[in-house]
Amino acid sequence: MAVHAGDRPDRNAGAVVAPIYQTSTFRFPAAFSEAGARRTHLYTRVANPTLTQAGSVVSALEGGKEGRVFASGMAALSTVLLGHLNRGDEVLAPEDLYGNTVTLLKQELPRWGIAVRFVPAARGSQVGEYLSDRTRLLLVESPTNPTLHVYDLRAWARAAERAHAWLVVDNTFSTPVNQQPLRWGAQVVMHSATKYLGGHSDLLAGALVSGPGLLTGLDPFAATLGGTLDPIAGFLLLRGMKTLPLRMARHNENARAVVEELEGHPKVMRICYPGRASAEEERICRRQMRGRGGMVSLVLRGGLGGARRFLQGLSLFQVASSLGGVESLVSLPLETSHRAMSSEERERRGIADSMARLSLGIEDAADLVADLKGALSRV
Ligand SMILES: *Cc1c(COP(=O)(O)O)cnc(C)c1O
Repeated sequence: MAVHAGDRPDRNAGAVVAPIYQTSTFRFPAAFSEAGARRTHLYTRVANPTLTQAGSVVSALEGGKEGRVFASGMAALSTVLLGHLNRGDEVLAPEDLYGNTVTLLKQELPRWGIAVRFVPAARGSQVGEYLSDRTRLLLVESPTNPTLHVYDLRAWARAAERAHAWLVVDNTFSTPVNQQPLRWGAQVVMHSATKYLGGHSDLLAGALVSGPGLLTGLDPFAATLGGTLDPIAGFLLLRGMKTLPLRMARHNENARAVVEELEGHPKVMRICYPGRASAEEERICRRQMRGRGGMVSLVLRGGLGGARRFLQGLSLFQVASSLGGVESLVSLPLETSHRAMSSEERERRGIADSMARLSLGIEDAADLVADLKGALSRV
């Protein structure tokens, strides 16, 4: 499916790979007719064949009916939130979300009269108790960043159904290879396609996928908001997605190898990996995930100093934020994604000062483990 979902005959020259429609606008038939206007592309902010194709591949992979791509993950998210919600509505979400998502929910949505209610992390499976008669959208990520907790998507979908609300799942960390939220009852899946879908750390993109009718209803708003992807980035995304299942299999394997090899290592106090936090999370993983993904966080001995020495000791891993590319990256949440958070809040959420977040690439597992062990010896 990853290889062929985007196949579309090229009537011009018979190209095997879909051409890039690098054009802002499209020629209109000389004599205007309503039927002709509906068939013809008008302007790339509204629709472009390269982008339509990228959307249909993401949709096929997620088992959806409609897929759209956007200029970034945040453009995809703002489109679905602002497009679906009205003044007076309430969003229900765990606090455990991507940093800019929290900013959008906490700082920006209230300016539009949209309230946000956070479900405490430990109460994720009791989400139904936090519904109100204003809840119109539930938003969840699983596994979470950087602690890699998992949420029960089925429980969240049931709560959404009770409230006649949409469940939107940010599936960036799992990808459809490891988890398909629509199967568990989500209405919309969202991606930062910048990460695993693109997979090569060379583009910014976002995506939304839904069952029939939902995204079509948002299309006019999406075109008005204007978070359109560039066609060349759309092409790179299409190219990346063809190898998504191959890459994910390797990301999954490499993360598992690292967890197994560092288990009980004297310099590692705690390993965060989906399913490890509790028996309940392990049960959730077994039910809703096929693979556990390529992310692992390590809580090291020696505090922040120890973590810095660890980073200095790595040679294969590059110190950078972001994730999901073919190359392995490492970052300290304290100094990157969770810098703005108070130390009390970080502690409450289990984000230690000495936590190093690894994004395992597709290199040879033995090389990665050797690099990690060498750097740990300096902690
Ligand atoms: C990166 C990321 C985003 C934001 O996506 P951009 O493509 O950077 O806009 C949202 N959610 C998660 C889980 C992410 O990792």
